[in-house]
Amino acid sequence: MSGLLFIIAAPSGAGKTTLVRRLIARTPNLALSISCATRSPRPGEVDGRDYHFLEEARFHALREAGDFLEWAKVHGNYYGTSRRQIADARAAGRDVLLEIDWQGAAQVRGVFPDAIDIFILPPSMEILAERLRGRGTDDEAVIERRFLAAREEIRHVDDFGYVIMNADLDTAYAQLASIVEASRLTLACQRQRHPEYFERFFPSL
Ligand code: 5GP
Repeated sequence: MSGLLFIIAAPSGAGKTTLVRRLIARTPNLALSISCATRSPRPGEVDGRDYHFLEEARFHALREAGDFLEWAKVHGNYYGTSRRQIADARAAGRDVLLEIDWQGAAQVRGVFPDAIDIFILPPSMEILAERLRGRGTDDEAVIERRFLAAREEIRHVDDFGYVIMNADLDTAYAQLASIVEASRLTLACQRQRHPEYFERFFPSL
């Protein structure tokens, strides 16, 4: 028994977090991987729920011990996915969703070529710039830096199998949910999920 592995990447401002939260809340048997991160928690973030927040020394110790399925430095902080957490969830038949950057996605594909990778795009660069500007509380230099980082992330859309353009949240969500649904309906998955059925009616398959 081995659950599916979904990867979702996006530049900030594409609406990834909102889409992922909704997907996790509405999809049975889909677990969100909680990454390790060396940055400090933002207001409202909870250790163990949003990330496992670690000191940099601890992060590197885990990395050297081979605990990470993938890791990357993003915007000056380190992030990594626990190999064990993913393996345990999948072995229990749960599908797992990784919300990681393009560098991590490349590493995961190298280990699990069957991973289903999805990239979320903003509807246009103008709208992305508007969204990054947000409520206008950040100074121009910070906004500019975020915009350049987002453009850099978007350059890697080319590596991904599925692309969602998030112009409208409900439409984008329906598209995301349909990718998950379709991925669960392949013969390989159906056979794994309903072994008695296949054994009974198609013993020779
Ligand atoms: P934030 O600090 O804003 O939550 O995330 C910053 C970036 O790091 C996002 O692009 C997010 O997808 C990425 N990220 C979060 N966790 C991981 C991880 O475990 N591995 C990798 N490679 N990237 C991650």
